[in-house]
Amino acid sequence: MKLDKTEMKILIELQKDGRLSRRMLADRIDVSTPTVSSKIEKLENMGIIEGFRVEIDHRKLGFQKYFFKIESEGKTEEEIREVFAGSERLRQIEKLEGSGFLLTLFINDFSQLDKATEYLEKEDGIKIKEVWRTQDEESKIPNIPLDENVPLDITCYYCNKPIKGEPEKWKKDGKEHYFCCSSCADLYEEKYEKIKEKWSGE
Ligand SMILES: [Zn+2]
Repeated sequence: MKLDKTEMKILIELQKDGRLSRRMLADRIDVSTPTVSSKIEKLENMGIIEGFRVEIDHRKLGFQKYFFKIESEGKTEEEIREVFAGSERLRQIEKLEGSGFLLTLFINDFSQLDKATEYLEKEDGIKIKEVWRTQDEESKIPNIPLDENVPLDITCYYCNKPIKGEPEKWKKDGKEHYFCCSSCADLYEEKYEKIKEKWSGE
């Protein structure tokens, strides 16, 4: 079971612009507005479209991407994250070889850069090795590009394998679940009932 051409086109257009109205979408891909609406509903039910969010280009707000290469003996990723006390500026921590970490921060003024440096410096067991910044394209978080000519398989909700042929459908709590075979559907239902029991028993 694959997404059809219309569904692919809807996803491609929405990736380009999530604010397109259903009517504008219909115009662009040359189908009727009700078709677009029902396709979007289906894609939402399947969890393929998770919501329409506004994408922010941080560069336009003056943010730049900074990298901090640090050395830290015995600190975990979690502990390093705590240094920034949940600040949104810290975007990513990557473990490097040995005791190294690479931190990615989005910073839009020098006082914030000083602060980040200060936080790291006064923390025992952390040494800043290198700091550099980039203004390149990747500071915008990219979407994965879709190609309408490369078919996307819908995967089984239980075993995650691509569904060949007609799916087994199961509707629960307003969500439609698709399975590759009836035994996956049964196994999932069993699991679902068990979880439900557990929660209602508490
Ligand atoms: Zn399956």
